[in-house]
Amino acid sequence: MGRDSNPRGLFRPNTLSKRAHSTTLPPIRFGRRARILRGKNRSASAENRESLLDTCGSGAHGAAMFFLTILGSGSAGNCALVETPQTRLLVDGGLSCMQMRKRLAACGVNPLEIDGILLTHEHGDHAGGLDVWCKNFHTPVYANALTAEALKRQSPGVRKDWRVFVTGSDFTVKDVAVQTFSVPHDAMDPVGFVLHHGRKALGVLTDLGFATKLACERVRQAQTLLIEANHDEKLLQNDTKRPWATKQRIMSRHGHLSNDAAAGVLAGMLDGNLRRAVLGHLSRDCNSAELATRTTRARLLAEGAREDAVEVFVADQRTPGPRFAIGGSA
Ligand SMILES: [Zn+2]
Ligand SMILES: [Zn+2]
Repeated sequence: MGRDSNPRGLFRPNTLSKRAHSTTLPPIRFGRRARILRGKNRSASAENRESLLDTCGSGAHGAAMFFLTILGSGSAGNCALVETPQTRLLVDGGLSCMQMRKRLAACGVNPLEIDGILLTHEHGDHAGGLDVWCKNFHTPVYANALTAEALKRQSPGVRKDWRVFVTGSDFTVKDVAVQTFSVPHDAMDPVGFVLHHGRKALGVLTDLGFATKLACERVRQAQTLLIEANHDEKLLQNDTKRPWATKQRIMSRHGHLSNDAAAGVLAGMLDGNLRRAVLGHLSRDCNSAELATRTTRARLLAEGAREDAVEVFVADQRTPGPRFAIGGSA
């Protein structure tokens, strides 16, 4: 469905007939850059998944080049760059437009080369830079309907090239296949992502109050997982700056993952593909890189992991991190 037939640029998959989405049909094409597989297709056929993955990268036999660079992570803004030979995506746009441009420039990337921005949810630290970005660049913005509607209400005057997906559906942007799944957080319809390129998979699990079975199952495919390690529970409880209501919100089942909770998710992935954990969204007051790393490493060792089984990194708020090769070493 191109923009000509839909002046507002919205893709509305649920207005199409269910029959049109049988698993035997090819993916639906919308816009110039992306195509989408609906949720109903998603789990119905392992063959579909295999063929989807094979079209997104070099397939089983090639060395897929797939990279993650965290441009910034924390309550002051979140944005990550994902690159393949054909595609450049941002996951969230919560830094200022100026910072996103500067940090992309440091990575050698021109903003005009960004093929899409994937949004986890509408909170300012994930979407706050989008208005200015979209005034400057016509980058497609991928979000579910409730997230898109929330952002449209906040900035009715700013046109964005929305590409609306259904939570739980899969879609592709050029050679990247994107799986979406629901996470519990106090936003309209927050999601996590697993991005696939060839046989390589990157999980994005932030922000969420607790790790659901669904979220854990989805990210099990990932060799690299960006996971929220927001706070140390004791430091948060003892924090004197935050009102009790704020602390309760952070600790609630629709708040943020603690170091212990993140470490628990990673421990549950030890028998899977996981080779690298990137801890993100650290609280400035109630956490530290050292504490988050120590908590994670201790838990993984306690679960019987070898010292070198999983690399553990912490994403920084102020400076871009290393360019991680998904499925390889940093
Ligand atoms: Zn949030
Ligand atoms: Zn956040």
